[in-house]
Amino acid sequence: MIDFPDWGAGTGTFRLADEVARLQAVVAVQNEVSTTLGDLPTLMTLVATRAEDMTGASGAFVETPEGNDLVCVAATGSAQAQLRARVPIVGSLSGLALLTGEVLACEDTQDDLRIDTGLVDTVRRRSMIAVPLVSSGKPFGVLQVFSSRPRAFGDEHVQMLRLLGGIMSARVEIAGQLQARQALLAENAVTLAALRESESRFRNAFDHSAIGMALVAPQGRWLKVNATLCQIVGFSQEELLARDCKSITHPEDRDSDVGSIASMLAGRIATYEIEKRYIHKSGSTVWVLVTSSLVKNAQGSPLYLVSQIQDITARKAAEDALMRLAIRDELTGLFNRREMDRLLQEEISRSQRHQRPLSLLMVDIDWFKRVNDDFGHQAGDGALRQVAQAILDSIRTLDRAARYGGEEMAVILPETSGTEALVVAERIRAKVAERSFSVAETTTPDGADIRLTVSVGVSTMFMPLAGSTELLIGDADRALYAAKRRGRNCCVMGDDRSKPSPA
Ligand code: GH3
Ligand code: MG
Ligand code: MG
Repeated sequence: MIDFPDWGAGTGTFRLADEVARLQAVVAVQNEVSTTLGDLPTLMTLVATRAEDMTGASGAFVETPEGNDLVCVAATGSAQAQLRARVPIVGSLSGLALLTGEVLACEDTQDDLRIDTGLVDTVRRRSMIAVPLVSSGKPFGVLQVFSSRPRAFGDEHVQMLRLLGGIMSARVEIAGQLQARQALLAENAVTLAALRESESRFRNAFDHSAIGMALVAPQGRWLKVNATLCQIVGFSQEELLARDCKSITHPEDRDSDVGSIASMLAGRIATYEIEKRYIHKSGSTVWVLVTSSLVKNAQGSPLYLVSQIQDITARKAAEDALMRLAIRDELTGLFNRREMDRLLQEEISRSQRHQRPLSLLMVDIDWFKRVNDDFGHQAGDGALRQVAQAILDSIRTLDRAARYGGEEMAVILPETSGTEALVVAERIRAKVAERSFSVAETTTPDGADIRLTVSVGVSTMFMPLAGSTELLIGDADRALYAAKRRGRNCCVMGDDRSKPSPA
């Protein structure tokens, strides 16, 4: 509360009290305007009404520009009749206030050169004040009060209207900002709703996909796994989330996708696909096709991988069976002749590259015709299978046994000299000779075990000396026939191509 000094009954005291009353009136209007929620015309009408009250005008109105004109959008008192009326900007006091941005007062319209008397009713509007309304630095309208009396307004009225114009301008500016903020909020709400929808669509697709799906951290930790993936590997969600990709990957495949992931993180590839093996919780092997792509944040840093994981165990098994059919002999399970030719060619190239010796054995069962004759062809088949097994039992894993034809079998011995090959040949011969072969299933009622023997031809070569599949096979064949001629159940070394032949 301001304590004004008592100046007595002088004019000074009277003026000060008036000034305070006017300011209080303006503050009251400010409060009213800032708490009124209506639209722009409502606010304009309110301000016009207060302007009229505060200045004792006979009317007040607000105009806004439209093309070359000002249109009356709010009016009170005797101005109400001219709501919607238009007046040209040029030639009117309001127009001049709008263009100059100045508060303009006119004491008598009938002798004011700024006013085109043809445009303005100078009888009912003898004096007036025009206040420009400004928002964001741009005039958007004019508040005008008028009186039918000349010289009806003083400086104090101009002052008050300037303040009122400021109040109105600020209110409109705030309304504009509010509107912009609301528009932004509405826009955000729409974006948010769209995001939520796409997220729920993704979650649905993820959770209920018939294919295994996972979000995986770039370092390999599972971040999110779906039910199908859990089913594929036999772990529950909790169990899987406590592990990483590597720990359920087959040891031989653990590093198989390291290069692809690095390429993707470096941005060289967008997605990669790999066939690999997981170890099921039960310990069995599961073949999967993994397709992964990288999700980055707005700044382009990698967030996580989205992986689709398909169980291809059945397909792999079918492929393996087909592959087996293509390269294996059905009766003995040894490689077939076509695969033997390919393997032999491969081993010849390898021994050429590494300058290592390579040997070949040709094994033929002695007097096998008699087995068929005595016990039947099926019993012969059984015996043949057992001889094949005896050969497999006598060789290393890197050696390759094939059925070359009939009851003749070949064994490829990589990294093996002629002398070493002869030892292997002898081992096979002895193994066959020492065991008995069952031909029980077919003919003899109380079972029959027979004795068999084999003859073996050995050939060998040492690169860079002569070597081809034909040469090696031809040498072994000739050695085999030599063994037959020598009386069978023996091993014969063929031409030794590990030494240069005499010129
Ligand atoms: P040897 O080799 O000691 O000179 O006498 P062999 O009686 O074994 O004579 P040869 O090698 O020429 O005859 C091969 C016989 O092996 C002919 C055939 O009756 C038999 N044979 C070839 N392939 C099969 C087969 O797949 N199943 C059966 N049961 N017999 C086969
Ligand atoms: Mg034979
Ligand atoms: Mg034969």
